[in-house]
Amino acid sequence: MQKGKLIIFAAPSGAGKTTLVKHLLKNINNLVFSVSATTRPRRAKEVDGKDYYFISLDEFKERIKNGDFVEWQEVYDGNYYGTLTSEVDHLLDMGKNVIFDVDVQGALNLKNHYQEQALAVFVEPPSVEVLRARLYRRRTETPESLERRVQKAASELNYQPLFDTSVYNNDLETAKTDAESVVLDFLANE
Ligand code: 5GP
Repeated sequence: MQKGKLIIFAAPSGAGKTTLVKHLLKNINNLVFSVSATTRPRRAKEVDGKDYYFISLDEFKERIKNGDFVEWQEVYDGNYYGTLTSEVDHLLDMGKNVIFDVDVQGALNLKNHYQEQALAVFVEPPSVEVLRARLYRRRTETPESLERRVQKAASELNYQPLFDTSVYNNDLETAKTDAESVVLDFLANE
């Protein structure tokens, strides 16, 4: 049995999951981020190897064939995202607790794989309209890709009951505190 534990955060796009994950990384000891591989283009502020491993579609497909991913998804049309087994197992073996920022399906696949060693947390947004407004303000989307993300978000809300627990993100400060206590409780339990 590996030593570390897994904390899996998933949410519809725009629910504030990434902000919560960053908050936890800053405030909880011995917690490290699982860097995923993706084929989507790097955004201006992102750093290769820190936010993602940005790789080509050919390389991604090669790595699927090699069985390098514990899970992978084509999250948005044509863009692949995946968790590398080597990345996660290496960190767990070192006794680190590992936190994941993945889509809903990826989260359920990870939970299925790691079972009791993992906590799957669903970040619940106040409403689809709030999601739309948050994504709009982020200005990383075209009108079409924003609409696609909103549609996907609406359908992802149906998966909430399959998660171990949820954090409701209406007020960000409250959500940060709630997320911290959910994670600390899980890490404290043997
Ligand atoms: P973004 O393009 O905004 O960085 O991410 C899009 C979606 O892909 C987010 O919901 C993010 O959590 C998810 N994602 C990131 N990495 C992975 C991964 O390794 N596996 C899966 N299944 N989803 C991921």
